[in-house]
Amino acid sequence: MNNTKTVLVTGATRGIGRGIASKFIKNGYAVYGTATTPEGAALISGELQSEEGFCRGLPMDVNNLESIKSVIETIEEERGPLSILVNNAGITKDNLLMRLSQEDWDNVIQTNLSGVFKLCKAVSRSMIKARYGRIINITSVVGHTGNAGQANYAASKAGIMSFSKSLAKELGSRGVTINCVSPGFIKTDMTEALSEQQKQIILNQIPIGKFGEANDVAEVVFFLAGDMASYITGSTIHVNGGMFME
Ligand code: NAP
Repeated sequence: MNNTKTVLVTGATRGIGRGIASKFIKNGYAVYGTATTPEGAALISGELQSEEGFCRGLPMDVNNLESIKSVIETIEEERGPLSILVNNAGITKDNLLMRLSQEDWDNVIQTNLSGVFKLCKAVSRSMIKARYGRIINITSVVGHTGNAGQANYAASKAGIMSFSKSLAKELGSRGVTINCVSPGFIKTDMTEALSEQQKQIILNQIPIGKFGEANDVAEVVFFLAGDMASYITGSTIHVNGGMFME
């Protein structure tokens, strides 16, 4: 398969982002993946490069507009306009409201929600000009259900969903689709931080009876980025083993 569309995956060093980047690379796409450090970016370039597709890691902090602009400029200089943006980078800073600091609230909202705004804005002009674009934002099951101890994270993820619906309405006539993928519990560094007891409580809520893998999310992102999904916009696809159903 010869597909030269260019993809940007934020937070591709590990976990879900790495799985998404790998999926596109193996299918012949030109993939740029971001890391918060130059060392992480070098690892992406080295480890994810394969015979099937091009891959390059670049340092970027979604809180830093200059670093976002620099990444987009590099991609456009090297490959032309970006076709697919996957906003995957995200953080948690969990605490119950009474103990949740202003700093941890701001940090999560800035990184998870404002970061998506910055990236979407940075790529939208060239996507509109090209009359083509696919934006896929990674949200979370807790953006639908809420979760004690995650008010900041849940609010950021719910915010991404309504932001995406609004953007879908603005850009639909320009050939640009915006959708969300909402994972449940996926085995990554982020969920590794939970205790065995917390994991068991979550497992009991999953009808399929196991935690998800990064690739379970990557497959759905890949579908939404492809021609088969050209009539889908403003939607959210749940990848949660039945943990939450709408
Ligand atoms: P992870 O293993 O913790 O990886 C997070 C990624 O985000 C890393 O590549 C990290 O880069 C990057 N990142 C963190 N802060 C950043 C910043 N300020 N600017 C740019 N990149 C930054 O997380 P994950 O579990 O794969 O989660 C990926 C996405 O899925 C997140 O949006 C998360 O909220 C969402 N999600 C995960 C689960 C789950 O069960 N794992 C469930 C629902 C939703 P560095 O390595 O350089 O730090």
